[in-house]
Amino acid sequence: MKINSIGFFVSGQKSQNYNLLNSENSSSQNNKFIRKHPDILNQLLVNYIPHVSFTAKKFTPLSIKDLPCPCCGKLMIPMDVVNKELTEQVLSGTSRIAVRALKQFEKYMHGVEKTCFARIEEASRKSPRKSLQEILQGLRQESLKTLEPHQMAILEQVDKTGEALSPASKRKLNSLTAEARKLIKESSSVTYDPMTIDDEAENLVIFRRKIFLHKIADWVENLPEQDKAVGAEIFKAAQKLKTAKDDPDALIVKYSGVVTRKVEGQYVTMLRTSYEIGQRLILPAVSTFEHVRPKSDGGSKELRNGLAECFGCNNARGGMPLEQWVKLHPEMEDNYQYYIDTIISLINSNTLHMRENLHHYPRLIAETLRSESNGRIKLNITGLKPLPEAKRAFPKAVLAEA
Ligand SMILES: [Zn+2]
Repeated sequence: MKINSIGFFVSGQKSQNYNLLNSENSSSQNNKFIRKHPDILNQLLVNYIPHVSFTAKKFTPLSIKDLPCPCCGKLMIPMDVVNKELTEQVLSGTSRIAVRALKQFEKYMHGVEKTCFARIEEASRKSPRKSLQEILQGLRQESLKTLEPHQMAILEQVDKTGEALSPASKRKLNSLTAEARKLIKESSSVTYDPMTIDDEAENLVIFRRKIFLHKIADWVENLPEQDKAVGAEIFKAAQKLKTAKDDPDALIVKYSGVVTRKVEGQYVTMLRTSYEIGQRLILPAVSTFEHVRPKSDGGSKELRNGLAECFGCNNARGGMPLEQWVKLHPEMEDNYQYYIDTIISLINSNTLHMRENLHHYPRLIAETLRSESNGRIKLNITGLKPLPEAKRAFPKAVLAEA
């Protein structure tokens, strides 16, 4: 949805000792696979990088601190507040300094990130001079160990579902799961030294959920007609492998592992920076511009179609129509009301400097939510006090925007 990466870490990369990944010198299967499927590399590159649009900066709700997310109800934090405190300099220093800076955002962190942060904080107490990335390396082994039985159980489920396949399809599936098991076993002892990511690291093949899923998807696509339905079941079973979004161990493994990225036209294998790790911990709670009617469905970036929503929810909804999304999450009906109540009380009080900018917002967004949810969401905006006479004719520009 929203494009423009913020807080990306390009400036910090040059100092890292990374590898150029040329076709001649790499024997890594992962990397070969990535080169064969540049679309996947693209997905790996953009995965979970925050997206905030420039025009959305004018959207006042994005600058309100402690606004509850209209979707999950958790408190949100504006991106500029995060960027001001969690700078590259602060997060790239010792973990003692980085943890202290992160601590002030702990109350905003979502569950998975809060658990990770607690582990980082504890490890940092023992090794305060290590960087965040070095701290993650120390946590990596244990997380790999915790994930392994879960991953093996999923692979077993995949093979079991595959029993119903024709022999040739089954053989191919079993070779894919055997390869995955081997990779999981081999990666279970891999940690990295952030200072010396070298040829060795590049040649290590590690298990990655995304690549495994792509291989399964490829395989399903080429299945004979009679195996397609079972293939789809298998893909569903494989998707149950834990992700960094829903599991602290998966997050630790992902952020302590190497990534392949395109930098200045070349593929490089590198570790994520401490800056990236620190920002990732707060990312799901950052407020982003949400199109009530999805952009893909012609929804515009206007006051009447905008919600400030946490990155986590925004990312999860994707382009799903609102009516469907609300049906899946009935608790949202209350959360939309908490959201608008908070905004209304800010408009009513004289403290909100952009009071006039937002005065039409509750009415506009209530209309949009009502029509987009097919009458399901009915916001109560009767608490909104009228603007004083003198101000009513004033906000022309805002009306034009609305
Ligand atoms: Zn949310």
